[in-house]
Amino acid sequence: MSTVLILDPAADAKAVGGALKRLGQWASLLEGPPRAYRLDPPSAPVTRAALAAVPGVAQVLVPASPHPRVDGQAHRAVPFGPVAVGGDAPPVFIAGPCSVESLQTAHEAAAAAAHAGARLLRGGAYKPRTSPYSFQGKGSDALGWLREAADAHGLGVVTEVLSEPTVDAVAGAADVLQVGSRNMQNFALLKAVGAAGMPVLLKRAMAATLEEWLLAGEYLLDAGAPSVVFCERGIKGFDPQTRNLLDLGAVAVLAHAMGQPVLVDPSHATGRRDLVPPLTAAALAAGAAGVMVEYHPDPAQALSDGPQALDAAGLAAVAAHFPGSAR
Ligand code: PEP
Ligand code: MN
Repeated sequence: MSTVLILDPAADAKAVGGALKRLGQWASLLEGPPRAYRLDPPSAPVTRAALAAVPGVAQVLVPASPHPRVDGQAHRAVPFGPVAVGGDAPPVFIAGPCSVESLQTAHEAAAAAAHAGARLLRGGAYKPRTSPYSFQGKGSDALGWLREAADAHGLGVVTEVLSEPTVDAVAGAADVLQVGSRNMQNFALLKAVGAAGMPVLLKRAMAATLEEWLLAGEYLLDAGAPSVVFCERGIKGFDPQTRNLLDLGAVAVLAHAMGQPVLVDPSHATGRRDLVPPLTAAALAAGAAGVMVEYHPDPAQALSDGPQALDAAGLAAVAAHFPGSAR
């Protein structure tokens, strides 16, 4: 659905078209009656008042948004555990292991993340694995370890909720609830996660359109989440050199055109630790409000996603993109 501008019967349509072009609009004339201009993508963002002020425009018809609650958080810094994300807030840096494996590795990861300037510790207690024979996570034990390690280093906790029955347990240990790619359109889970009343990190499904992603965010906000931060983590590509295809165009659309809080996960996007620092830079350049990266104190021993886990040097390289936050 597009915005439509109804013209005065006496208007000079060509002059109106020229004025719209100067406002960065891609306008198609509809002969009517009434004569009207339809504004098509990729028209520049413009206020309703600016369109109404164009001489010859009688009426501005803006279609109702399918995701009004998501639109409501545009251009604002939204709450996200110990920090705010988006708007004028400084970029946020989240780091931690793919999986929370033990109390000791959680403490080591939290110490390294805090030293590097991260404000939140990530780590999965319940893991969505492609194979049922792969490590599935340490469950409720891991939630306790993650919380203890984060508290010891003054960090917030973001961790994934995999299923409805575990929402309360995860909410009890976390500051931000993560909905993973594989669950982006699990609508029953979205309702249950939203009802927990906590900020949500919503990862993009591997083949979701931006509209589907935004509507998933709408489910969460409608169900009671105070904020939804979108996380681009790569979509299905065709080249096995990278695990996924980081869609920086999507980041730019959400950040620049829509003013939404959006983070990037360059770890799952690439599957390769060597590409995480450069794609952190690319993400921030594209408008991301921060990144979430995987780090492991001993990547060779990681129980999941070892090849993409940053070591100490990699974590420092990422931290260099967040000047002022490293401790
Ligand atoms: C994760 O961040 O732990 C994860 C499983 O990511 P994704 O849902 O993006 O695959
Ligand atoms: Mn992982």
